Amino acid sequence: MVDVDVVVVGAGPAGTSVSYDLLCERKTVIILDRFDFPRFKACAGGLTVKTLNALRYSVDSVIRKNCYDLIIGKGYKTTISM
Ligand SMILES: Cc1cc2nc3c(=O)[nH]c(=O)nc-3n(C[C@H](O)[C@H](O)[C@H](O)COP(=O)(O)OP(=O)(O)OC[C@H]3O[C@@H](n4cnc5c(N)ncnc54)[C@H](O)[C@@H]3O)c2cc1C
Repeated sequence: MVDVDVVVVGAGPAGTSVSYDLLCERKTVIILDRFDFPRFKACAGGLTVKTLNALRYSVDSVIRKNCYDLIIGKGYKTTISM
């Protein structure tokens, strides 16, 4: 029997973020996910400045490259440069 304050289901960004906040509140947390990690995840791996500013912790150690231009495509035909 495991005695924890909170069980979080889902170890994506939402589940891990709320777990981080709960740990900061000195709650004990267990995270359950239906997949073994590292799991397959459809994601470009990009974080916008808005997202980085919203994080309560540093992700510097896993940043591979800083990008300053972004081209978004739709159907491989229309592209928007930012
Ligand atoms: C193709 C693609 C590219 C993307 N690229 C980017 C990007 O570059 N940058 C970016 O910021 N965002 C990107 N996103 C969006 C990003 O993936 C989502 O915003 C983010 O994953 C949402 O996080 P989440 O924790 O809400 O959900 P998820 O990441 O989906 O996590 C949910 C977790 O819950 C688990 N789960 C679900 N049901 C159960 C269950 N019944 N029991 C146990 N576990 C369960 C799942 O296995 C999963 O691990 C992309 C999305 C897609 C589809």
